Amino acid sequence: MLLQNWWYTSLLGKPYHKIDSLREHISCDVLVVGGGMSGVSAAHALMNKGLKVVLIEKNILGGSSTGKSAGFLTPDSELELSQLIRRFGVNGAKELWEVPVKGISLIKQNVEKYNLDCDFQKQDSLFLGIGKSGWQDVQDELESRNKAGFESKIYNEQELKNIIHATGYSGAVSYANTYGISGLQYCQAMKNILTDAGIQVYEATEALRIEDHTVFTHAGSVKADKIIICIDKMTHSFSHFADDVFHAQTFLSISEPLSDKEIESIFPSGQKFQCWDSTLVYSYFRLTGNNRMLLGGGSAFTTFLSKEVHSATVIDEVITKFKQFFPSLNHLKFIQYWPGQIDTTRDLLPTLVRDDKTPYLHFCFGVVGLPWASFCGNFLAECVLGTNVPEQKKYFEYFSSRRPFAFPIWIEKVFGKPVLFSLDNYWAKYHQIDIKDKMQYDKKDF
Ligand SMILES: Cc1cc2nc3c(=O)[nH]c(=O)nc-3n(C[C@H](O)[C@H](O)[C@H](O)COP(=O)(O)OP(=O)(O)OC[C@H]3O[C@@H](n4cnc5c(N)ncnc54)[C@H](O)[C@@H]3O)c2cc1C
Repeated sequence: MLLQNWWYTSLLGKPYHKIDSLREHISCDVLVVGGGMSGVSAAHALMNKGLKVVLIEKNILGGSSTGKSAGFLTPDSELELSQLIRRFGVNGAKELWEVPVKGISLIKQNVEKYNLDCDFQKQDSLFLGIGKSGWQDVQDELESRNKAGFESKIYNEQELKNIIHATGYSGAVSYANTYGISGLQYCQAMKNILTDAGIQVYEATEALRIEDHTVFTHAGSVKADKIIICIDKMTHSFSHFADDVFHAQTFLSISEPLSDKEIESIFPSGQKFQCWDSTLVYSYFRLTGNNRMLLGGGSAFTTFLSKEVHSATVIDEVITKFKQFFPSLNHLKFIQYWPGQIDTTRDLLPTLVRDDKTPYLHFCFGVVGLPWASFCGNFLAECVLGTNVPEQKKYFEYFSSRRPFAFPIWIEKVFGKPVLFSLDNYWAKYHQIDIKDKMQYDKKDF
């Protein structure tokens, strides 16, 4: 199996050209730093507003997490609805659920409006339970969806066989309005839309430091009235917020294209779901537009490691387990694999920063999920434009950089970042309860 991101392979033959790096000193009204889903979304929201907008990106647009991702566009990210309800109550969970729902809708609108070529397809979600506890998780998810007034359908083990032909799942819950996409192709296609509208985009341009209103790069600089930072893998030399970013590692692989018969052997009803299971380090799979199986997962050990692991051992194990669930695909060859570290925060919610000492500077970081990133970029652009003010207060509260976390920071000093992250991650998913009124925020945040 080749160690290579399939989405990069799929970019060959597409009509996108790398844009040259910045080699001069320029100024603008708004600078967006980082061209993943959040940065592209921010730049798009600033388009055609009479502003001079510049976007700088270290790699190519979509070249980091967005372009490595499996492209599941579902409101579930690391946190399921039942977990959000436990933490924030039904109303709070519904407010938070609106974030990825709006994020998906923004992406879908762009795909349709600009007719973007990005392997976008309608794919209903199927959350699969494994074992007794998995069946309980499925029922909890259904109950939560009912409480929130969201439509869904539950399948017990027997009923499930009509829609997914596998051995070992104890049940599932499914729901609609979810999609599959190539994040890399989306960002590259959006690059044409942004540049056509006059936004100055520079690829291969890394922001090295910020001094007051100026961002310096290797061979140039950008002075801006307002700056939106949407970067990943932040370093401490760039901002102290790097301390608040943690990483969860996952692995992806892509198969040879499946024949119609093979597809029917796993999805007998003809509906090609995007699926993930109920385990803590879950596996996930979906068919791409050209009917390749995109399969992802990880291991308890590598998920929380600080360093990226490139060995195929973990994904080999994920493939072996997948084939135990789908014996009819025993012969299927997976041809490429790639690892990726997802930036996140300790409690798996994104952080949005608007600091009163530097009100011209906005940050979003630790954003898990393409829909959440799409929302966050758009949200920060709205803050810069001064539109949608009531929403701003609400979401700055949820996503404050000063929100409390369950475990004290000294754990990191003694046992290391992965230990603190795994404890906080587990707590956020399974035990944490946040009572919004009692959260100890510094009111200056808002
Ligand atoms: C393997 C993998 C699978 C995933 N699967 C899914 C999935 O199926 N569904 C889902 O919703 N989410 C998935 N995710 C998560 C999702 O990809 C991310 O949450 C999302 O892409 C975050 O978007 P972003 O714009 O915040 O970050 P990024 O996409 O990482 O964008 C940040 C950008 O900033 C650039 N940058 C960094 N530093 C600098 C600098 N100093 N100067 C200039 N530019 C800089 C980077 O090159 C990058 O392009 C997956 C992630 C990975 C890694």
